[in-house]
Amino acid sequence: MTATDFEPVIGLEIHAELQTRSKMFCGCPVLDPLVSEPNVAVCPVCVGLPGALPVANRRAVELGISVGLALNCQIRDFLAFARKNYFYPDLPKGYQISQHEYPIAFNGHIDVPGPTGRVRIRRAHLEEDTAKLVHASDGTTLVDFNRSSVPLFEIVTEPDIHSAEGAMAYASAVRDVLRYLGANSGDMEKGVLRLEANVSVRERGTTDLNTRTEIKNLNSFSSLGRGIELEVQRQIALILSGGKVRQATMGWEQAENDRDRVKLVEQRIKENADDYRYFPEPDLRPVPVSREWVARLRLELPELPTARADRFRTAFGLSAADAELLTADRALGDYFEAVVRGVSTPKVAANWMLGEFMRLLNEGGGELSSVKVTADALAELIREVEQGNVTPSSAKSVLADMFASGERAPAVIARRGLTTLRGADALTPVAEKIVTDNPAQVAQYFAGKENVFQWLVGQIMKATKGQADAQQTRTTLQAVLEARRPK
Ligand SMILES: [Zn+2]
Repeated sequence: MTATDFEPVIGLEIHAELQTRSKMFCGCPVLDPLVSEPNVAVCPVCVGLPGALPVANRRAVELGISVGLALNCQIRDFLAFARKNYFYPDLPKGYQISQHEYPIAFNGHIDVPGPTGRVRIRRAHLEEDTAKLVHASDGTTLVDFNRSSVPLFEIVTEPDIHSAEGAMAYASAVRDVLRYLGANSGDMEKGVLRLEANVSVRERGTTDLNTRTEIKNLNSFSSLGRGIELEVQRQIALILSGGKVRQATMGWEQAENDRDRVKLVEQRIKENADDYRYFPEPDLRPVPVSREWVARLRLELPELPTARADRFRTAFGLSAADAELLTADRALGDYFEAVVRGVSTPKVAANWMLGEFMRLLNEGGGELSSVKVTADALAELIREVEQGNVTPSSAKSVLADMFASGERAPAVIARRGLTTLRGADALTPVAEKIVTDNPAQVAQYFAGKENVFQWLVGQIMKATKGQADAQQTRTTLQAVLEARRPK
């Protein structure tokens, strides 16, 4: 057997903090981890003082149900929490309030664009985040309780993924859904969206589920892909050399000989399944989840990215790749649709958005909400090009000005004198001058070298800084040359 006889079998867990104003079981605010001081959003409930009582956050439950519905899950008709008992310094109560036997959402799926296809969702449950340990440079470890008890939604797949690319495509599709619903910002660098992969390998053509390992702390899509690739290679090499994969949690370690290279090592061998001594949370009695509530949340679901991309393809004639790019972000999709309403050809609007607009957007930091050009103003610029008032190349620099100043296209075009040169009155003098200034080339043209004509067009364009109407330049030049053709 060789390495190519094996196929990876991958299941993913996505841990998404839910974007609520307050925490899961108390009224403390949820703060931006990158800008807030440590330990400023704390109360007796979320630091685990004895006797403090949790109250479930209704908005967090709603967001969880909405995400479950968007992932085609069944929604349980009651909400029940369980205690997951373990000791760790980031868990002040000595247990985490989670859902065990009765996740709020289960038996769902998502259709991932591309070769990955359908990935089944086994379950998705609500829980509270842990506090955050901060390892200081002097060797001490500090605890920041701002994150303690922030609402967390854990989405667990069946082992339906068979490549690192597939895992990244799945995670990206789920992130798009979370962002569309306003459930999570998707900012992985803030740690609000975290990934874990369960990886095993099997002989191609078989359906066995072999011993799997778990890769934790995957904090970007690229580390997810890289981690899976390394682990699959490690397991295959182990099996081919006669070894056996052990159930373990894998962790990153720098390679001994090269500090820039990382590798995966067995961090913790699991002899038995973890025993968390789950039991029903006595401080939170189960409550019914009414079908009317679920039906209302289903009605409130926005059009989701995949459905929207399909519609962009069929209604606007876009390629699958363009449609995907324009729908990955909900606000960008909204912006595009608003531009389309003001132009005659959606495809042209897409080219502007994905070309010059995206370039300027990224240059300015990538925040659509801070862009000074409204969708209406971009549509107006595109119409100016379509009507021939400004050439496509001039229009690009007009858009750059609009980004900088917020001015409308006609104002920029007038101020910078960029109106397209059109009509015989404007173009004939330029053509006459070019023909007079280049007698050698004109002689070649009359001698039958047809491609000199294009060179002369180029000279006119250069002289007018690209503002001459291309079609009219050709007809005007033709007329000027014919008038001088030797008899
Ligand atoms: Zn609190």
